[in-house]
Amino acid sequence: TNPDQDFVLKTIKGRDVHFVRFWFTDVLGTMKSFAVIPSELENAFAEGMGFDGSCIEGFCRTQESDMLAYPDASTFQVLPWRPDSNAVARMFCTIKTPSGEPFEGDPRTVLKRIVDRAAQMGYVFNVGPELEYYYFKDAEGTEVLDRGGYFDLTCLDSASDLRRDTVLTLEKMGIPVEYSHHENGPSQHEIDLRYSDALSMADAVMTYKLVVKEIAMKHGVHASFMPKPMADEAGSGMHVHQSLFDMDGNNAFFDPEDPQGYNLSKVAKHYIAGLLKYAPEFCAITNQYVNSYKRLVDGGEAPIYISWAQRNRSTLVRIPGYKPGKESACRIELRSPDPAANPYLAFATMLAAGLKGIEDELELQAPAEDRDLFRLSRQELRKQGFATLPDSLGEAVELFASSGFMREVLGEHIHGYLVEAKREEWNSYQRNVTQWERDRYLAAL
Ligand code: GLU
Ligand code: MG
Ligand code: MG
Repeated sequence: TNPDQDFVLKTIKGRDVHFVRFWFTDVLGTMKSFAVIPSELENAFAEGMGFDGSCIEGFCRTQESDMLAYPDASTFQVLPWRPDSNAVARMFCTIKTPSGEPFEGDPRTVLKRIVDRAAQMGYVFNVGPELEYYYFKDAEGTEVLDRGGYFDLTCLDSASDLRRDTVLTLEKMGIPVEYSHHENGPSQHEIDLRYSDALSMADAVMTYKLVVKEIAMKHGVHASFMPKPMADEAGSGMHVHQSLFDMDGNNAFFDPEDPQGYNLSKVAKHYIAGLLKYAPEFCAITNQYVNSYKRLVDGGEAPIYISWAQRNRSTLVRIPGYKPGKESACRIELRSPDPAANPYLAFATMLAAGLKGIEDELELQAPAEDRDLFRLSRQELRKQGFATLPDSLGEAVELFASSGFMREVLGEHIHGYLVEAKREEWNSYQRNVTQWERDRYLAAL
């Protein structure tokens, strides 16, 4: 018998669990769930639970819709915001086809495949994401809760209790939090999880987004991970700190003899080169909505050009300062992703890009330490020969569509689905006539 499964069955009795929710995500990263009664569990561990995949975004068409959800016992947690008696618990699932094959439309399966590839190369992929989000008084987002700013601690930060409740709930679910603070925008916040391996972290990100929203609702407000909810305020990013450890637990990114003085190993530099090379191609994954590109604009706080540096926060990849004696903390930070990305696919594509950089021994371009490229527009950057991120979902999808690398990393199923779905989204947006256009043109033309 499997010790994790025994633990689940025992905990269910001990904690009066009456509903076990099976969690998984569709291709866009929306959480999907159905509840199972405890007496079904033993069978579900062995043979999976059947469900109809045809109504799940990006899964399958009706004629091939039978899917099986296999719960991963190591992810079992009781939901702390539900009642203590007849309690509710959850497990993340892997999705398989009726013939028992891992289903290629399951984002968790994609991440597992790339994590396994890293393991074959001798690496564990560790990530620490920083998800930003806004609180609003209602779901329409008409009013924020406060006018606080970065790290503010005053009565302006009326969300302190919300954040506290959220952090405590996450910790009850076995998700350690490292930092939490008010961000730049009014009512904008950030809670940073302690780094862990990518698969556990992708599960934790899904839980985090749900917990933030659940706790907000409990307090009568609304939380949103929309990348750019207000034109004149900061967007919400999901910076991803990342490093590769070898199988003995040593940080493969750390090298105190780095001739450039960044304490970065050759492996780290090839990895960064891979990220820089493929960032335009995986942008449709890390920044998957029309609205994502309202954050990636000139003069914003988010990166638009392909660059790296230690101090400059306007670069795509930043190297956080190294504290002597903390070699495990040596890492790099990718600053383009936003929190509306599907975390499984986002982590999978960035890892795959980094590994490809290592495999192909890609040479890392010079750092952009001294130049304040932050002030240049995308057009000026392009004119000076700097590569930039795509300026719209439309451009991002076409780069993604023609990327053989992305097709290989994600598989035909997900790649094909996303190309179609994202082109449709872009075309629908293009057909729309906005208030901005009416204000600018109607009277004048
Ligand atoms: N909100 C900024 C973004 O959109 C990041 C601010 C920060 O440096 O934490 O990426
Ligand atoms: Mg931040
Ligand atoms: Mg950051």
